Amino acid sequence: MREIRLAARPDGWPTDDTFEIADVPMPTAGPGQVLIRNVFMSVDPYMRGRMNDAKSYVPPFQLGAPLEGGAVGEVVASESPDVPVGAFVVHGLGWREYSVTEAARVRVVDPAAADLSAYLGVLGLTGFTAYVGLLDIAQFKPGETVFVSGAAGAVGSVVGQVAKLRGAKRVIGSAGSAEKVSHLVDDLGFDAAFNYRDSPVRKQLRQAAPDGIDVYFDNVGGDHLEAAIGSLTKYGRVAMCGAVGAYNETSAPAAPRNLALAIGKELNLRGFIVSNHNRRMPDFLAEVGPWVREGRLQARETIVDGLENAPAAFIGLLRGENTGKMLVRLS
Ligand code: NDP
Repeated sequence: MREIRLAARPDGWPTDDTFEIADVPMPTAGPGQVLIRNVFMSVDPYMRGRMNDAKSYVPPFQLGAPLEGGAVGEVVASESPDVPVGAFVVHGLGWREYSVTEAARVRVVDPAAADLSAYLGVLGLTGFTAYVGLLDIAQFKPGETVFVSGAAGAVGSVVGQVAKLRGAKRVIGSAGSAEKVSHLVDDLGFDAAFNYRDSPVRKQLRQAAPDGIDVYFDNVGGDHLEAAIGSLTKYGRVAMCGAVGAYNETSAPAAPRNLALAIGKELNLRGFIVSNHNRRMPDFLAEVGPWVREGRLQARETIVDGLENAPAAFIGLLRGENTGKMLVRLS
């Protein structure tokens, strides 16, 4: 079987040389473990941070060791009475064709209730991130105006749609292409959207939200965060989810330069790590699950086939080649 390893730590943008693909013996399940044939792997921006040898909330990837990430697959051998052969499970040891892990560390999912891929996207950690960030961290309330960056991505697209379904007055999204902007307005029901590459975010946000915004869901950081701080109304809230605009930068970001506005406006800027909010998972599934099943919440996916193409999928994600959730499908 094959696995993708970290071959070199990137300085700036990852390249093909960052990764190597290796043939390794098929692993076997020990006591309490399961062997999983992976079907889909999640491709996530936070993996870029783990490629640096830096202290963070998750340990860095090790050189020469396989990468790790969310995956969903079928149990093909089991040494645990809790998770039988034939079960489909979500786990955290992707980036390889087969994974062995403790049965206690997998979550069994129902392939009849939703597409398997959805358990990594809209019904998985990315959808959950949107839910927790918008409702718990930013404390969104009906009637408010919301701005979300990275809006055509996996998390951002769910943020905007949940805000609409929960009674937002106005939802504005930013994304990196004209096609994505049309997708947000025409398919996902955003009230307004703009391409951040066209002209300064600050100007475009002011035009889209002349009365200001109450909530900013930040996936990008930098100029987007600066623009949002400028447009936030008194007592506005920011869910600091990610800063994908800076993940490949080698120097500190130049923005936001206007952070002191947070004092007079009495803003609340709050970061979060979704895995620390798992107690909210049942509420998320109970509310968002039916919206997905009824087609009221759409979840576009960008699927790349083959383990060998996972590095290109990852680099493509950071370049914005995905709409919705970026996934790798294994044969
Ligand atoms: P996305 O599906 O949003 O993919 C990343 C997107 O980032 C790309 O599609 C691209 O879209 C955009 N992007 C890349 N470079 C830039 C840039 N310089 N400026 C603006 N946009 C850029 O990924 P996810 O939905 O998985 O993740 C979204 C964010 O949420 C990330 O920051 C991630 O780290 C964070 N996250 C945080 C979690 C937490 O617990 N705090 C959990 C999960 C995710 P475009 O074409 O529009 O540029």
